[in-house]
Amino acid sequence: MMIRRTLMTRRSVLLGTAAALTASRSRLLFAGTEYPFPFGVASGNPTPDGIVLWTRLAPDPLSPDPERPGGMPPDAVPVCWEIAADPGMKRLVKSGTENAEAAHAHSLHIECSGLEAGHDYWYRFIAGGAASPTGFFRTAPAKGSTAKKLHFGFVSCAHYELGYFSAYRHLADEAPDLVLFLGDYIYEYVSKSPRKVRMHSDGVDAADLRTYRNRYAQYRTDADLQRLHATAPCLMTWDDHEVQNDYSDRWSQTFDDPQTFLARRAAAYRAYWEHMPLPRSAMPRGPDATIYGRHDFGDLASFLVVDNRQYRSRLACDGPPKGGGKQVTDEACPERLEPQRSVYGAAQEAWLYDQFRHPSGRWTLLAQQQLMAELKERLGDGKISHWTEDWNGFPAARRRLLQAVADSGTPNPVVLGGDIHSFWASDLKIDFDDPKAPTVATEFVGTSVTSPGPPYGRFSRWLPDNPHIQFFDSRRRGYASAKLRPDRMEVAFRAISDVTQPDANVSTLQHFAVEAGRPGILSG
Ligand code: FE
Ligand code: CA
Repeated sequence: MMIRRTLMTRRSVLLGTAAALTASRSRLLFAGTEYPFPFGVASGNPTPDGIVLWTRLAPDPLSPDPERPGGMPPDAVPVCWEIAADPGMKRLVKSGTENAEAAHAHSLHIECSGLEAGHDYWYRFIAGGAASPTGFFRTAPAKGSTAKKLHFGFVSCAHYELGYFSAYRHLADEAPDLVLFLGDYIYEYVSKSPRKVRMHSDGVDAADLRTYRNRYAQYRTDADLQRLHATAPCLMTWDDHEVQNDYSDRWSQTFDDPQTFLARRAAAYRAYWEHMPLPRSAMPRGPDATIYGRHDFGDLASFLVVDNRQYRSRLACDGPPKGGGKQVTDEACPERLEPQRSVYGAAQEAWLYDQFRHPSGRWTLLAQQQLMAELKERLGDGKISHWTEDWNGFPAARRRLLQAVADSGTPNPVVLGGDIHSFWASDLKIDFDDPKAPTVATEFVGTSVTSPGPPYGRFSRWLPDNPHIQFFDSRRRGYASAKLRPDRMEVAFRAISDVTQPDANVSTLQHFAVEAGRPGILSG
């Protein structure tokens, strides 16, 4: 099993005839002789017969020249792609040539079909006389087929300045079948923390196309991030920091004019699409992009990937002087409880509940962003408050969703999330106020890859008011690793030793299990 993850050294490649022709044409278009694939490769959205392959040409990856992002000329450049049945790329099964266009920052999104279900494949790109690193993916099992096991990881919240991406490296070492990126893949802002271990290269908050592109470019130069993407296909969704902290729809944390903010959102979404293995159907049109969708893995699992930002209602009781999340009591902010408030928007909610009603897998996995369990936060005066910026700001929408889960009978619902920079394992209930209410779904929230967690002592003191929360720890960075079988899901919370050390090691902080047919956390 190890050999399939062997990555080729980037120049050790013998070009076939078609590739050599492409190479000689594209070589003329590069002014310099720099390596054109400094971001490596990625694959995403595996289906039983297809995959999306990604790379971006950028011989000068962090070019400050706004006219030449990545140091590329404005010309289209032909790039050859290859998919093989062996890591040495000898037994080619698919290949083609596609133009990398300046309009998309010379990124490529190859939507390949005609592959075999549940098979191992290796892929690479060739341009300018050079070959990219070789990546690996496995196609999804055939529709309806019996899949015995799926191993996946989920990650979120990777602030480049606040630590090294050891979590990505250790997840790559597990060689999972699939990786879920649940948001805050980049951070748009420059940290003022004294604990920075490295710097966002341009030193400014990303706010337009050039600065968002440069942010993604810098993250994608990270060796651990590249290794994870080259090792396994991914499903992608975003949270707030891909645009701006705590934004909702057109409402910015900084109370910008909504039209002005939508222009920023358009630039951010465009740069996101340019840097992710997403299909053309997810390409933004202005400030709008459809990234939610369903991904089936035989009869074992359906992943429902959702978008919690683009369509959400404005934060409750949002207003100057300070934007973003707030801790509020019901008396101070009755708006939080209004029934029409939505996290996903009406159309996406309808789509999601329809998926619940038409299951195809034994497990239904909601790949979303934020802690869904209610968190009652007891204030010093004994009053209960809630945070407005996660699901606690949208209790009616949460109840609607969990009611739809229960009414549909969708099999074995498990909610996966991030955002809160801490590990959580919870039993989800339609009525969190009733300790005897049945558990309708199980929730696991992975910690952050690097971003600092919330105060452990203060949060721990809130747990007695929240008996549905079975586990919480905000002191460690890392990721979550899940093994799914027809009758059981096992989840390991994996913690890295030190986010400030590039060679940090990893250990399992806690194990959990969920048994099919019985929602709720079992200690593993
Ligand atoms: Fe975050
Ligand atoms: Ca977030």
